[in-house]
Amino acid sequence: MLTNITIEQTKEILEQEIPDLRIEEVYILDSLDCVLAEDIISDMNIPPFDRSPLDGYAYRSQDTKVATKGLPVTLQVIDDIKAGYVSKKVLKEGQAIRIMTGAKVPEGADVIIKYEATEFTDYEVKIFESLGSGDNIVKMGEDISQGELVLSKGSIIGPAEIGILATLGKKTVRVYAKPKVAILATGDELVDIDQEVKDGKIRNSNSYMVAAQVKRLGINPTLLGSCNDDLEEVVPILEAALKWADIIITTGGASVGDADIIKDAFKILGAELLFWKVKVKPGSPIVAAKLANKLLFGLSGNPAAAYITFEQFVRPSLMRTMGKTKVKLMEVNTVLESDFSKKSSQNRYVRAFTYVKDGKYYTRLPDKHSSGVLSSLAGKNSIFFVPGSSGPYKKGDTIKIEFLDYIEVEE
Ligand code: AMP
Ligand code: MG
Repeated sequence: MLTNITIEQTKEILEQEIPDLRIEEVYILDSLDCVLAEDIISDMNIPPFDRSPLDGYAYRSQDTKVATKGLPVTLQVIDDIKAGYVSKKVLKEGQAIRIMTGAKVPEGADVIIKYEATEFTDYEVKIFESLGSGDNIVKMGEDISQGELVLSKGSIIGPAEIGILATLGKKTVRVYAKPKVAILATGDELVDIDQEVKDGKIRNSNSYMVAAQVKRLGINPTLLGSCNDDLEEVVPILEAALKWADIIITTGGASVGDADIIKDAFKILGAELLFWKVKVKPGSPIVAAKLANKLLFGLSGNPAAAYITFEQFVRPSLMRTMGKTKVKLMEVNTVLESDFSKKSSQNRYVRAFTYVKDGKYYTRLPDKHSSGVLSSLAGKNSIFFVPGSSGPYKKGDTIKIEFLDYIEVEE
């Protein structure tokens, strides 16, 4: 098993763990933020008929060739059509039909003029200009033509894609299934949120924090609660979870102390350890293992460490299991708002708040950096990566930060 590895090695190892992508058919709205597992080819033209993009009058362009401001042409209004209805009349010479936005262009008409450009009564309309044939008509299939590949397999489904699926009548769609995620907190000191905090105990905050990070990805995790640092407790819980979960995340017990049993638990379960400990602060005690196509992550119990290592190492794996391979945290150059003089030989992820002012990004760092400090994570939206032995950084320096938000990568 690899130990004390670099951040790059960690990411490389995890990238090699290609998950089995499961495909499932889901209700259109449940496909939001999923990856499309099929090509969507249109079986119809959109719009399905020539339609009017405005409220106005439809007529034959040849009838108004000579129309000018001073010498308008008067047409006889023979019908009016609202969106959703079709005129039964066929336009003849000298005639017009009043038409609303979205309505089908009547037979015989080849141009539409907005009604603000005309003068009209219920029976007549005066046209003051000569428009060309086809003007102001949205052609059938102009948006999407029948047989066209509209959305390709592998694309991420957002609100616009959902609109396209709806227009094509797709109530359900095939996507890569979201992984089933189980979260377990280990530590004799832990009590649940509704329990009394007796001497020596603390509340299990990690389970909820990590679950929320998982939920951000659109995945509903299952909380397995917490248990003692005892292999006899941990192993059966994880064994049961492995029957259904694709990814297991534990917090606590991943370090080198007597109670740090997670690595052993993963081994007893028959998992192959991928690595243990990464050269980064906070979060160096992290262990990853695989069992068949399932991944197991043992994160540090320190809240900031768990938070940051989740974002850096676990989140990409979760996204890969949803078919999202080409995504990374969004990097931005920003101006440091205060000095950062803490120097160490270790790589360090510093939690940060980045904001924009007058078109420029600025980053503010918290006073408390310890990995056990949870409160200084609040309000942070970014991470400042400080390579080992670099710095000190001065107020006003340009630094690079990663937003805790992902962006698609073009290759
Ligand atoms: P460990 O990784 O087990 O050595 O724990 C490191 C620190 O994180 C200790 O101070 C633990 O009490 C604390 N800790 C462990 N698990 C949790 C948890 N689920 N919620 C909050 N703090 C925790
Ligand atoms: Mg512990």
